[in-house]
Amino acid sequence: MEITLLGTGAGIPQADRAQSSLLISDEEVLLIDCGAGALLRLGEIGLSPLEVDAVVLTHLHLDHVADLLPLAKARYLLGEPWLRVWGPVGTERWLLSLQSLYPYLHSIKLEVSEIDAGCRFEVCGFDMLSASAAHSVPALCYRVEGSSTVTCSGDTEPTERLSELASGSDLLVHECSFPDGFDVTNHTTPTGLGNTIRGVKEILLTHFYPQCRGLEEDMARTVERLSGIRTRPGRDLMGISLS
Ligand SMILES: [Zn+2]
Ligand SMILES: [Zn+2]
Repeated sequence: MEITLLGTGAGIPQADRAQSSLLISDEEVLLIDCGAGALLRLGEIGLSPLEVDAVVLTHLHLDHVADLLPLAKARYLLGEPWLRVWGPVGTERWLLSLQSLYPYLHSIKLEVSEIDAGCRFEVCGFDMLSASAAHSVPALCYRVEGSSTVTCSGDTEPTERLSELASGSDLLVHECSFPDGFDVTNHTTPTGLGNTIRGVKEILLTHFYPQCRGLEEDMARTVERLSGIRTRPGRDLMGISLS
């Protein structure tokens, strides 16, 4: 299983961090979230939009979905006018409403499946398990099992639920929006994550706000010291091979 961080940023623009998006490749290719800049990053790694077999959304905040309809349009322009999308309750109404504003995109078939917390489901040969995140809107964390296992937090406060969901994973890609010292709700800081997470082999931090700039390595060291789990800060286009 190959993991590529397409976007490790959040809602405030940064030159070297696109918004949230994570590529998981095994037999097929899955995108977890599709924030602004994800399409550009796909181009940078030489992957056609046609090679993305499905998109799974953690939640509908713009920094996780802004490039989704452009991805569907790119596929349409390349001759494949359809896209399969999974996401939390509300995804279908949101996406079809957005599509309805663009009459020239009406022929694109958007196949949307809505997921509750605690669901097991299959996407493109990956066995998926969802858990609810602790965020300001309905949001899900996902465990993705293929030839290896990776868990993705999406946006969340650190929770025991996520620690249980991730247990035994080869990799946890977890948001760490702010450094310690910020009064944070709905998101994660290093000490909160380090005190909560257990039982995974490695952690990659992502979803950095500009306040993290220059502190990412220190943030990872804090998580590693408290959790005892190898932790690194993510950067755009970073690739990890899991075997
Ligand atoms: Zn976000
Ligand atoms: Zn969010």
